[in-house]
Amino acid sequence: MQKVAIVTGASKGIGRQIAKTLAMQEIKVIANYNKSEQQAKELKQELQDKGFDIDIVQADVSTKQGVEKLVNYTIEKYRKVDILVNNAGIAKPGLIIDVTDEDWQELINTNLYSAFAMSREVAKSMINSKCGLIINISSIWGEVGASMEVVYSITKAGLDALTKSLAKELGPSNIRVNSISPGIINTNMNSNLTNEELAEIKDEIPLEKIGEPEDISKCVKWLIEDNYTTGQVISINGGWNI
Ligand code: NAP
Repeated sequence: MQKVAIVTGASKGIGRQIAKTLAMQEIKVIANYNKSEQQAKELKQELQDKGFDIDIVQADVSTKQGVEKLVNYTIEKYRKVDILVNNAGIAKPGLIIDVTDEDWQELINTNLYSAFAMSREVAKSMINSKCGLIINISSIWGEVGASMEVVYSITKAGLDALTKSLAKELGPSNIRVNSISPGIINTNMNSNLTNEELAEIKDEIPLEKIGEPEDISKCVKWLIEDNYTTGQVISINGGWNI
């Protein structure tokens, strides 16, 4: 039976590549987007041209309504969710003295609440079928903390705690939960960095390069094939954290 996967934030960057990789594995992908409708439509077309059909669903997963819309769509159409990739996320760099309560709430809701609420909704179906895989895309900054990204780092550390707790709670139902924790990946999220800043970062990375979205999607593919890894934070960062 064909597997069904939801990927949040799949219109761009890492999520887009994960959606492509899974679709090309003959998995039915529900690719979520919020604002980037055009990019989502282009993704659907690109995959259709290759012979793969995905569903694209607009939903703001930072809200309860958005989460329910996305999960209800999937369950009503496919009756199950086998794989959930909580990838949607935003960054808002700045000094702590400049971070507003609105910034805090937006980051918490988008990066952390979304993953909690999505996991809560899909867990109901996964527990029934006694099978499932949840992957949270966290970040190196959740592991080591980032100056000028305090709230972002908090959300990502929270995701890793969500991963470990859920892995314990849902393991007996044969549901695996893992984090993939990227270092720096070549996406829009880093488009604010100058070439000089990127060169400085590369200097700090043992493998001396910036990662690509494929480096993350390959790990998602591997976690789908695996069946004995759970509760882990898998760091993919060129050795940046050692
Ligand atoms: P990106 O290119 O900026 O893409 C972010 C994606 O998240 C977009 O598809 C966006 O959709 C979606 N999104 C944002 N808010 C959303 C919401 N409320 N509801 C639904 N979708 C939403 O960023 P990226 O680099 O691919 O990042 C993907 C994930 O990897 C994030 O969680 C990020 O924190 C994490 N990460 C990235 C890096 C890196 O260096 N790039 C490193 C570590 C971790 P719309 O445009 O349609 O709104």
